[in-house]
Amino acid sequence: DAKQHGGGTFRFFEAAANERLRSRQQTEQALRLAVQENQFVLHYQPKVSCNNGTIIGAEALIRWQHPQHGLISPAEFIQAMEESGQVVAVGRWVMHQACLQASRWHARGLGPFSVAVNLSARQLREGNLVQQVRQVLEETGLAARWLELELTESMLMEDVEETIATLGELRALGVRLSVDDFGTGYSSLSYLKRFPLDAVKVDRSFVQDIVADPNDVSITRAVITMAHALQMKVIAEGVETEAQLALLIANRCDEIQGYYFSRPVPAEEMEIMLENGKTIPEDLIHPRERKR
Ligand code: C2E
Ligand code: MG
Ligand code: MG
Ligand code: MG
Repeated sequence: DAKQHGGGTFRFFEAAANERLRSRQQTEQALRLAVQENQFVLHYQPKVSCNNGTIIGAEALIRWQHPQHGLISPAEFIQAMEESGQVVAVGRWVMHQACLQASRWHARGLGPFSVAVNLSARQLREGNLVQQVRQVLEETGLAARWLELELTESMLMEDVEETIATLGELRALGVRLSVDDFGTGYSSLSYLKRFPLDAVKVDRSFVQDIVADPNDVSITRAVITMAHALQMKVIAEGVETEAQLALLIANRCDEIQGYYFSRPVPAEEMEIMLENGKTIPEDLIHPRERKR
């Protein structure tokens, strides 16, 4: 009972709770306005093939273009949108916008390549996701196989039977499914085999130390080997250096994403990379043929 700890302590907790409440209400209100005023933008980060070095996809990442505070990272508002439920409507906008952009790029002869969208837990549980995806593909004219949906391990674990059914319906549409941030949750790959998944994204915390820490090499190699045995592709996230890339390629990683190749960029910059045919240098893709 807070009163037993003295008035001061009690008031301290009371003030903290009020402040949290106020800032949450303020955040929610600001986000409502942001939705009304279309203050969200998508940036795109290339996914690059380790087999031929070319761009084979792009992940759409949301940013909040705030009129006073500038560009705000999703880390600062996704949680609040998830709690308020706003993430369902905004997530639909993200999917529509990303598919429309990919469809326009394809129409201009760029690609074809896939576009990946991050799903939130509430999108998976509420708002008839399968119907929504079907509609978005129809509205934008994007073929289902070019849309990839990224889910986290915790989303998969929440309501396993229902999730397996929903993912099965999405897969039947032709959409591809991947597990984001793999290794940060508590699931094993053999457990993931229960779900109809196409790819695993190895979390950047493993990639980060892969050059210095032999344990992280072993973990990554084991994940790649087992994922392949289960017919899943492996994407490494957060690849920042050539040394990390070389190690991943040597261990048969399928795709990479990270600052090494490109940061997430506005659509116009993504378009320039596509037009210029930006690739990973050939001597990194096929190191044995490197001339000395
Ligand atoms: P994520 O899906 O795992 O996306 C990867 C994050 O890592 C992105 O952060 C990206 O900018 C960052 N990143 C990429 N390469 C590197 C690298 O080489 N080094 C480092 N240090 N970081 C790298 P971002 O854009 O801030 O997004 C953070 C998270 O917010 C995403 O993690 C995703 O979970 C969530 N998110 C972003 N957009 C959406 C969205 O439209 N809907 C939902 N539900 N979540 C989103
Ligand atoms: Mg992601
Ligand atoms: Mg991730
Ligand atoms: Mg993440």
